[in-house]
Amino acid sequence: GPKSKRLIARQDEIDSSAVAYPNDIPLAFEEGKGATIRDVDGNTYLDFFAGIGVLNVGHSNPYVLEAVHEQTDKLVHTIDFPTDARLELIDKLETIAPGNLAGNSRVVFGGPTGSDANEAAIKLAKHNTGGDGLIAFRGGYHGATSGAMSLTSNKSFKSDYTPLLPDVVHAPYPYPFRQDKDPETAVRDALTEVRSIVEDPYGGLANPAGIFVEPIQGEGGVIVPPKGFLEGLRTIADENELPLIFDEIQSGFGRTGKWWASEWYDVTPDAITSAKALGGIGFPLSATIYHEDLDTWEPGGHAGTYRGHVVGMRAGARAIEYIESHDLLAHARELGDVIRSRLTEIGETNPALASVRGKGLFIGAEFVDRSGAPDGNAVDAIQQYCYEHGVLVWTAGRHGNILRLLPPLVLTHEQAEIGLEIIEDAIRASTN
Ligand code: PMP
Repeated sequence: GPKSKRLIARQDEIDSSAVAYPNDIPLAFEEGKGATIRDVDGNTYLDFFAGIGVLNVGHSNPYVLEAVHEQTDKLVHTIDFPTDARLELIDKLETIAPGNLAGNSRVVFGGPTGSDANEAAIKLAKHNTGGDGLIAFRGGYHGATSGAMSLTSNKSFKSDYTPLLPDVVHAPYPYPFRQDKDPETAVRDALTEVRSIVEDPYGGLANPAGIFVEPIQGEGGVIVPPKGFLEGLRTIADENELPLIFDEIQSGFGRTGKWWASEWYDVTPDAITSAKALGGIGFPLSATIYHEDLDTWEPGGHAGTYRGHVVGMRAGARAIEYIESHDLLAHARELGDVIRSRLTEIGETNPALASVRGKGLFIGAEFVDRSGAPDGNAVDAIQQYCYEHGVLVWTAGRHGNILRLLPPLVLTHEQAEIGLEIIEDAIRASTN
């Protein structure tokens, strides 16, 4: 619409050249509510994107907002001094932490972004092991600061900024969809590679400090690893006394229908990094949750002005309460199954839709052309069509050929149906 166009034109004039829009449709937003968002021209969209998986309890969730208003009226910033909000969130994170981290964990708030949480985790790993080498995975995304960027595998994000951390090696992440290799072989090959990076005196990291992995890759294309992969990493980490760190910044905080994606597997990491949805309704907040055995920092061992934002912590604590009292984890699992089966059905008659995957409301659909090659253009066209018809969707993957859906966990069945109709039309119109 015209108002959106004006704002975009002005932004193009004054804003950084680094801002990026995913499409040609000018969109500027002014109000979000639950799973919907309205642009400045008055058009309402179903938000199947949620600010990249941030708004798990919905835009401006009223229950969370009430606590936010109370908090902003009282106190917005201290640093490490205890506040009720801080203790409330730490207590709640302690109870939702997976496996043996529950009741045995510590939380370090390091700064507002996911990248900050990963920086803290890198320091945690190095500090505890005395090592400096890190194992990460191809297709992984961990952030835009130097350490986190070193863990990210996509060269285009980092080639202008080398040298980064010198000893980071990226092992293959098993890709169990449409591949010559069966899932077991993909897992075995990936684990063999990790083991050799850690243990082989002729090719390994001289001094490994930890293993960083997304338990489900997000930016890499919503890749749900086959059973055995994370379990195998756990074994290698244990045998070599290395911390296993799960980046749950996108996959965590209820997104997959469990608090943490690792709970879909029989594995507990030594540390979890969390951000995005952790801030409740979009407040910038991150945390690294780690086993108390790793709590070896001296006071001030990890620093930062925003070691937890009071309003964000309050919002995060209330969001946990809201997710629990509304049984949103079960809802996300159920609705995710509905969405995936509908997409799978579409794929049965349309070979362009080559695979559907995900857990809960962390969903990917992969598109290929007639020769079976990744088709990013089709996904661009689907995204464009969806925007024109009132649904915000996102993309992912090395070739941009994964349609990524990350709707708020409060999305209703009715809203899902409406969104799916439009997505189905978009797929039909954009593939042949
Ligand atoms: N890790 C993962 C898995 C992510 O998806 C992201 C953001 N997309 C990050 C880290 C970085 O978070 P931030 O952009 O807040 O720094």
